[in-house]
Amino acid sequence: MKTELSIQVVIVGGGIAGLWLLNRLSSQGMDVVLLETHGLGNKQTLSSQGIIHGGLKYALNGVLSPASSAIATMPERWRACLNGSGDVDLRGTRVLSEHYYMWSSGSLRSRLKSFLGSKALRGRIDALTPAEYPAFFADAMRSAGTKPAGTVYKLSDFVVDTPSLLQTLARPWHNRILQCEQVHLEQSRHAADAKQASLLIAHGGQQIVVNAGQIILCAGEGNEALLAQWETADAIEKPAMQRRPLHMVSVRVKHATPAYVHCIGDSFGMTPRFTITSHPCHDSRDPEWVWYVGGEIAESGVHRDEQSQQRLAHQALSALFPWVDFSDARWHSFFINRAEPRIADLQRPDNAFMTECGNVVVCWPTKLTLCPNLGDSVSALVSSDTTFHGDDEGSKQLAKLLPQALLADPPWEHIR
Ligand SMILES: Cc1cc2nc3c(=O)[nH]c(=O)nc-3n(C[C@H](O)[C@H](O)[C@H](O)COP(=O)(O)OP(=O)(O)OC[C@H]3O[C@@H](n4cnc5c(N)ncnc54)[C@H](O)[C@@H]3O)c2cc1C
Repeated sequence: MKTELSIQVVIVGGGIAGLWLLNRLSSQGMDVVLLETHGLGNKQTLSSQGIIHGGLKYALNGVLSPASSAIATMPERWRACLNGSGDVDLRGTRVLSEHYYMWSSGSLRSRLKSFLGSKALRGRIDALTPAEYPAFFADAMRSAGTKPAGTVYKLSDFVVDTPSLLQTLARPWHNRILQCEQVHLEQSRHAADAKQASLLIAHGGQQIVVNAGQIILCAGEGNEALLAQWETADAIEKPAMQRRPLHMVSVRVKHATPAYVHCIGDSFGMTPRFTITSHPCHDSRDPEWVWYVGGEIAESGVHRDEQSQQRLAHQALSALFPWVDFSDARWHSFFINRAEPRIADLQRPDNAFMTECGNVVVCWPTKLTLCPNLGDSVSALVSSDTTFHGDDEGSKQLAKLLPQALLADPPWEHIR
């Protein structure tokens, strides 16, 4: 037998997008429940590098593109959330590095160099003197007695610890964040309007139909399958998805100082050669970090097998950072897709994406950084919806039928 419930808003997917929207909408007084089929953050969010950035890396071709302007206000929005004065309360989230750095080890071509020092970028990027270098580069000067070649820049970007971010977002609403085995999107049998969907939840042999005022799809790559299942009587324009595959590298190093740096070559290009973040190892007494490496090597690495990718990263990082001892380092790599709305030529979208199909709202933030932007659009849309006139009995009952969802592990937790 199927149980049937009514709930004002149901969010499907517990990555950063789903948890961010749960916080935004619940604090506006809405009755919201989130459903997750794996662990919270298990896909892109915990595999991300946690960089909250103002888009400067997209200006490395010497142009402030729409992408680099739209995203420019985001670090400030996040900082307000981190100190408790933003639209989502992120107090208690661990910030791994208050700044992110960019290092050009070569001699930059003069056009890029003058762009980086230009008026347009003032306040967003500073070239540092050796006395201002972060600890990681100060290590190099201590061990070699001379400063590393090239220039180190400080950006207004910073790095958050994604497990702590997800925990902070989940804590106030944990009894509304529910785990289930399967979620299906199907045509609502009640609504006169053929563009109304409902959810069929399967868990532990139970089948639960949820009729929701709004269904918000935040399942990342999973949005594609959910939309494909939904057979609508009326034609409805469903958004298409694109995947941008990456082959990320992580390396566990016994180096006491973490690295947070884009390493750019001396050429113009939209993607840094290496984008490095460092994440603490919780199972070691010595200071050990997992360096997590993206950038151009992760994009081109989709054509390399794991061994070749790790070998290449080992050679390149040893040459770039001669002051770091990689002799005992443990290397690992894995493939992961970024899930985004489909746009021409697999380009990067400029903003968080949201679109409405009947009572279904489909979201792809496209970047962690753009969640405040996603929150603004979804909250304006959902709060103006007045079609739900129920109470919160349905959400209370669902919370009795399903267990609470727990946090997944970040991918580097498994390197031993
Ligand atoms: C390697 C990598 C590095 C990145 N680094 C950065 C960075 O430094 N800065 C930045 O701003 N952005 C970064 N990004 C982008 C950022 O991580 C993503 O844009 C963001 O995490 C997407 O969040 P999401 O909640 O939409 O999706 P996800 O994090 O993928 O979450 C989707 C959730 O939905 C669940 N789910 C799937 N199907 C279903 C279903 N049928 N029912 C219920 N639940 C379901 C999944 O289990 C998962 O928990 C990076 C991305 C990658 C891949």
